[in-house]
Amino acid sequence: MMVLVINCGSSSIKYQLFDMSNESVLAKGLVERIGLDKASLNHKPAYKEGTVISANIENHSIGIRMVLDALVDKKIGVIDTLEKIAAVGHRVLHGGRKFSDSVLIDSAVMAAIEECVELGPLHNPANILGINACGELMPGVPQVAVFDTGFHQTMPPHVYLYGLPYEAYEKYGIRRYGFHGTSHRYVSQRAAQLMGDREDLRLITCHLGNGASVAAIRDGKCYDTSMGLTPLEGLVMGTRCGEIDPAIVPFLMKKTGMTPDQVDAYMNKKSGLLGLSGVSNDVRDIEEAALRGDERANIALEVYCYRVRKCIGSYAAAMGGVDAIIFTAGLGENSISMRSRICHGLEFLGAQLDPDKNAIRGKEQEVSVDGAPVRIYVIPTNEELVIARDSIEICSALGKVDKTADKPQAMEKFA
Ligand code: ADP
Repeated sequence: MMVLVINCGSSSIKYQLFDMSNESVLAKGLVERIGLDKASLNHKPAYKEGTVISANIENHSIGIRMVLDALVDKKIGVIDTLEKIAAVGHRVLHGGRKFSDSVLIDSAVMAAIEECVELGPLHNPANILGINACGELMPGVPQVAVFDTGFHQTMPPHVYLYGLPYEAYEKYGIRRYGFHGTSHRYVSQRAAQLMGDREDLRLITCHLGNGASVAAIRDGKCYDTSMGLTPLEGLVMGTRCGEIDPAIVPFLMKKTGMTPDQVDAYMNKKSGLLGLSGVSNDVRDIEEAALRGDERANIALEVYCYRVRKCIGSYAAAMGGVDAIIFTAGLGENSISMRSRICHGLEFLGAQLDPDKNAIRGKEQEVSVDGAPVRIYVIPTNEELVIARDSIEICSALGKVDKTADKPQAMEKFA
């Protein structure tokens, strides 16, 4: 049984086609620059040569049509007919207060995703375009929405409320929602498995990619997370400033004459590691510059690590302790030096990194010293697999697909 996973951005579509009999990826790819010049589809089948197709891709519907054509193409395709696709799973950024779990998409769900556009103005409209396009091109195939905010809906009120007048929450839904929920859910569940299928755990998961967030997870449920109403709050990120004194916003606007949209772009696109270092938003470039003696680059890295370390410490306090710390996403999985820098100073908690075990990239491994009271893991995230699994579970529970029809096949990994 095949599941197509779709992640639509404002001008892009990422996709993966899963064979759920063994959870292997048959093909994946990216449509880029939708509605812009030099648009293209980069299609990568698992066991064939990949290809890049340049085309005029005016909208998401045309982009998704190209993806579906590529999947069944004689030369670069991986299935003979689209009828093999049993379900489509969509990553949806904002589910607001309505969605704590993934759901089968119907008109009421679409209306609710529409209502959340003001909370996720950059992503939710693109997600809606993707869902509509799949509905048109694959009529009758069930579609499931998996929300980035869903996993964090278990946060209690004293964690999600801001210190603003209560009416800001009641009238406008201003509260902390949190993001990267699918990733925090995946790596925390995997850590619990690695720790002997325990449920009574206090975990701190660090999703450190271009966007970055930390979550405190107690007994399998999210207790706190560093992103808020939007993905701007919390850690210093690739290009986002993270937590700042809110008075800086009116101060900057008065000083520079920036409009609300301009100040929003200043904080989201020009800040963080990029703005601090003046070099790049990519840690690899900044580390190179720091090694050449660029002091600003070095300070940018230290600001980044200090914020993550501080967040880990505060979540240990919030949960009354911590059993394991998990690193994931581009930087968390791959940067040996940044993991080391972040953990330096956490020994008082009982968390001690083993330098030899830590010398790995992109691989699942415990990296703490043997016998340390707090374990540290690197666990590569797999948000697409969570979306595919949720899609099958939901469709099967509602009788939309028969997952028992699938015979388990040998698993082959597509890196
Ligand atoms: P996104 O949030 O866009 O999905 P990723 O999870 O792919 O981002 O993370 C991208 C970031 O991960 C890069 O900007 C870079 O800072 C960091 N990164 C990736 N590979 C390495 C590496 N080998 N060493 C250090 N940092 C890395």
